[in-house]
Amino acid sequence: MGMATDAVRRTNLSQVLRILHVEGPATRAQITAHTGLNRSTVGTLVGDLAEVGLVEEGEPRSTGGRGRPSPLVSVVPMRTAVLVIDVKVDSVAAGIVGLGGHRLPFHRLERPRVRTGIEPTVDDLEALARKALADLPAGQHLFGIAVSIAGLVDRHTNTVSEGPNIGWTQVPLPDLLLERLSLDLPAVMANDGDAGVWAEHLRGAAIGVDDVVYLSGEVGLGAGVIVGGMPLGGAVGYAGELGHMVVEPDGPRCGCGAQGCLELMVGEQALLRRAGQTEDGGRDALDAVLAAIVDGDEDALAAVARTGHWLAIGIANIVNVFNPRMVVLGDMHALLHPHVIDQVELRLAAKSLVGRRSPVRVVASRLGDDASAVGAAEFALEPLLSDPLGADLGTPATA
Ligand SMILES: [Zn+2]
Repeated sequence: MGMATDAVRRTNLSQVLRILHVEGPATRAQITAHTGLNRSTVGTLVGDLAEVGLVEEGEPRSTGGRGRPSPLVSVVPMRTAVLVIDVKVDSVAAGIVGLGGHRLPFHRLERPRVRTGIEPTVDDLEALARKALADLPAGQHLFGIAVSIAGLVDRHTNTVSEGPNIGWTQVPLPDLLLERLSLDLPAVMANDGDAGVWAEHLRGAAIGVDDVVYLSGEVGLGAGVIVGGMPLGGAVGYAGELGHMVVEPDGPRCGCGAQGCLELMVGEQALLRRAGQTEDGGRDALDAVLAAIVDGDEDALAAVARTGHWLAIGIANIVNVFNPRMVVLGDMHALLHPHVIDQVELRLAAKSLVGRRSPVRVVASRLGDDASAVGAAEFALEPLLSDPLGADLGTPATA
């Protein structure tokens, strides 16, 4: 009886906190309507969450109807926060994310290809993480650390199994960082595409869309898939490596061992090479190409059209496999979206069996470069959202 009651209470607390976290402030009346719980139960749950500082009640807001106005309940964004680390090939970042998706401005560092090794990366991340931690008010609690990385991630061991574009194998990155920062915190690490698609689903371009594919081009092509509202994981959690779908079997050799992977045809290096820039030019070179496109430069336009050609082939295949309602293009491909969308839509209408029968919207990311970091933070907050009063709210940050 006691245990069953505890379990029900935990589920109800989780439900209330999750509504406020995902959907924003709500009146008690709205929470009552949303959960189907009765009013006095909601009052008790909100009181319990307020007592530990996870939520607060603001001024009563008139609902315009009869009866007493209902108080507005919202999360306390920084009651306990997550230190987020983002590792792409061209850049690394660190920042603080709290409840409700509230975030302090991220510290991002563009970096040359020579700094993608493990040691330089950890050096750069340590410096960025210290800046991020300095943003926290004194005595601020840290709930955990969340890492997003462009590579295969073993979530059970928090290890980067393989990162073809940074040349890493079997790297326990969160442990290395926690040691550098002298922090002892729960850590979560996720593949950038898995984190990115979750962020876009919760807080970005795909809110309310339960079948989504996210493709995010940088040097590689990160990808994540949500099917029926659930992240697609696969046997070991490696599912959704759409960037390594072979589209040109005689094409160039990929870091994964195959030839002609989609990411080689639509990634940053191919675009830069086609546009006459240095392949390893990074963000500066990419910005130059984007500016040239806007200026109507013929070489740049031809380069982006070639990228659009391969992207359209990739998306048409992906739509045949997953039948998504939406494809979200992130990072570099969000910037290219206006220049490639016609090619993609044409191919979907003409040469994708599923695409021409089931409407699919191909849109640009709303979270941009930060999507994967935002998603990783959501994964790290999950224990708190599942069991708000049972979770350790964390320790004051001192790094
Ligand atoms: Zn590959």
